[in-house]
Amino acid sequence: MNAVKGSCHCGTVQFTVKLSDGINSARRCDCSLCLRRGAVAVTAMKGDITYTAGADNLTLYQFNTKVAEHYFCKTCGIYTHHNRRSNPQEAGINLACLAGHTPLLPDVVVNDGRNHPTDVGRELNVGVLRFEPERGRQ
Ligand SMILES: [Zn+2]
Repeated sequence: MNAVKGSCHCGTVQFTVKLSDGINSARRCDCSLCLRRGAVAVTAMKGDITYTAGADNLTLYQFNTKVAEHYFCKTCGIYTHHNRRSNPQEAGINLACLAGHTPLLPDVVVNDGRNHPTDVGRELNVGVLRFEPERGRQ
């Protein structure tokens, strides 16, 4: 796969990226952030992103476990990419930022971000909600 050029909306942040599997990896996600963000992400290895301008204009947003790193341009606010929680060596790239691509694709697979594997494990470890006696009387 050849490198694809990418940029935020105002053009301050510029990068090239080699996608791991082209747009075959295009995914939406239903976690609380992605529902608001609405972006379609494609997969790349973190090391395959090369910034050509404006890397210092990216701002980091993190929430919940604060493992995933969500980056956006601090001038125009456009999400460019995030380093994944499920595989920290992998990044999700905002398909809409890539030259020659569109996020307006039919039938994009939606990941079950609400039930992230790490979260599911944590819920099982807590177990309080499952065995709370009050619940059985409703
Ligand atoms: Zn920008």
